[in-house]
Amino acid sequence: MTELIAWLRATIEGDLAKARDVVQPDDQWYTARDLFEEAPCVDWDEGEFLTLYTPGVVIARCEAELAEIDAIMAMPHYAWDGRSEYGCPMLDPDAYAGPVCTCGRDAIVNRLLRIKASGYRHRPGWQEGWAP
Ligand SMILES: [Zn+2]
Repeated sequence: MTELIAWLRATIEGDLAKARDVVQPDDQWYTARDLFEEAPCVDWDEGEFLTLYTPGVVIARCEAELAEIDAIMAMPHYAWDGRSEYGCPMLDPDAYAGPVCTCGRDAIVNRLLRIKASGYRHRPGWQEGWAP
């Protein structure tokens, strides 16, 4: 999982850096008409599609995805609430030999990150074993 997270972050941060390199102060939202007028070889449908990938859009998407990864990774293990006998052993891994998450947090985090990473499966470095 560590390798997948590092690869996913690096891929998104690479896209973010490329978008920041070319962003212009006023290009937050190109319209299809803007693109059609600037590049007449682009037809209307292509222009609409390309507006999904302007630098401002890419920056917003990358920043949101990096924040999403942080939020996924910050999901807590189940803590003892006074009603159940035990909390998750991962809350105190030093107290257990070979601690394994028993609350389901690690399985959920693993699944969410695999789903997110699969959106980048066409990129160099993707491993088929990461498929959700
Ligand atoms: Zn757990």
